[in-house]
Amino acid sequence: MSTPLLFAPPAGAADLARAHRELHTTTQLLRTLVHASPLAIVAIDGEQNVLSWNHAAEQLFGWREHEVLGRPAPNVPPEAQDEFQRQFADVMRGAAFTGCRALRRRKDGAPLDISLSAAPLRDDGNAVVGIMMIIADITERMQLEEQLRQAQKMEAVGRLAGGIAHDFNNLLTVIRCHADLLHASLDADDPRREDAVEVMHTADRASSLTRQLLAFSRKQVLQPRIIDLNVVITDMERMLRRLIDATVELVTIPAPALGHVRADPGQLEQVLVNLALNARDAMPRGGSIIIETANVAFSAPRAHPHGVVRAGEYVMLSITDNGRGMTAEAQAHCFEPFFTTKEQGKGTGLGLSTVYGIVRQSGGHVTFRTELGKGTTFTVYLPRLATGTPIGMPAIGSDVLPRGTETILVVEDESAVRSLVKRLLERQGYQVLTARHGADALALRERHEGPIHLLLTDMVMPEMGGSELAERLQATSPQLRALYMSGYTAGTNEHHEIIAPRSAFLAKPFSAEELVRRVRAALGG
Ligand code: ADP
Ligand code: MG
Repeated sequence: MSTPLLFAPPAGAADLARAHRELHTTTQLLRTLVHASPLAIVAIDGEQNVLSWNHAAEQLFGWREHEVLGRPAPNVPPEAQDEFQRQFADVMRGAAFTGCRALRRRKDGAPLDISLSAAPLRDDGNAVVGIMMIIADITERMQLEEQLRQAQKMEAVGRLAGGIAHDFNNLLTVIRCHADLLHASLDADDPRREDAVEVMHTADRASSLTRQLLAFSRKQVLQPRIIDLNVVITDMERMLRRLIDATVELVTIPAPALGHVRADPGQLEQVLVNLALNARDAMPRGGSIIIETANVAFSAPRAHPHGVVRAGEYVMLSITDNGRGMTAEAQAHCFEPFFTTKEQGKGTGLGLSTVYGIVRQSGGHVTFRTELGKGTTFTVYLPRLATGTPIGMPAIGSDVLPRGTETILVVEDESAVRSLVKRLLERQGYQVLTARHGADALALRERHEGPIHLLLTDMVMPEMGGSELAERLQATSPQLRALYMSGYTAGTNEHHEIIAPRSAFLAKPFSAEELVRRVRAALGG
């Protein structure tokens, strides 16, 4: 009789089979986990040859599993090798780590920022035989952080520039107008007239600098109109041709049926000139500049290194050159005021910062693409209007300075500007009342007998702004007209300080002539 024991599994065999099944289940579980993981998982042996390369690693780095198995991982770029070797040695000694930032590359060469965690792989004798790495792609997060840093930096520099420019505007207005007065008081053959003229010119040069700083800080007062960008370009073309060299060809490609935008035409001209000058400077041995417009629409926000273009409809303006292109450093800093790579005396570093400020204040975006030795394209996107008819720019007259006898109330907190304006207007025959601020002006209105024809007021004042003051005065004297003066808006960033249609605006710094003409125009004829 055979003993059942003979055919029964050997002692412990049932346990072994169960252990086999469990091992199989665990292996399947791990394999599924590795395969389905949204994070890249890569294992390498003690010789750094790839043991495993999951689906997410294929997606992230671009190499298929069969291309890398049994070889060193190709995703560590040369500049990251030292750090990688150090980390590898640490983990081989048994030290795991998590969440280290590292640099990798894709098969197509694109750099990747990753967050890397690694742990040792051990054999059954507990000896370390390789390492296992879990990799998360943080490229986008790093880009967002960089954008935020960039935006904060521009914000801070803008606030600084705007503050300085604001104070200088007041000072320059006083200098310019006193030089005007001095000049007018000297006889035609007086040699000191030349000195006064020199002061006037220098003040004008300084004013154009402060204007550029204000533009960058997005604190300019906009006088926007509905405009057709193609018309602006056509009007500017002859001037642009004169600016650039004969060796540089200028091509314009206006889009048919281009939509309209709401922007300050003078400022758009400034944008065009600054971009064209930079294109010219990038091509000292000649080349071509292409100015192009187009209607574009984005259905989703588009990120670029200097911000995000919101989804929507835009009018695009691009200026392309085939010049020297921009280095990484120039790309990182070109929109900052005073960043220039040009030799002293040639560049001011204010061109692109002005463009940036103007475009952002108009609710648009500016971006660029560039390649060293090949060329650069700067692209401006301005919000496209649904409808609207463009209005031409006003012509500037040129007769003798107009005079008048009306009563003007001047409200300005800066005493030098206040007394200067009073003097200039009285010289032209006007009755001038002055006040330091809104409350002062309202009190004066109570005391004054007889009409006040024009309120000439600073726009930004503590406590009561110019437009509130005008409203309160007009409540009792509806015929009162208002002319605002300012070099600065108190608006927050990208906030459009727009002048009400029936009132006029005088930008500081102004010349004596501008003041007198604008006052006459505001009073009517
Ligand atoms: P500036 O022209 O006075 O140097 P910008 O603000 O206009 O100041 O430009 C800043 C810098 O950006 C330039 O010095 C130059 O290095 C770079 N840059 C701007 N536009 C171009 C371009 N089209 N091609 C190459 N580099 C450019
Ligand atoms: Mg420039």
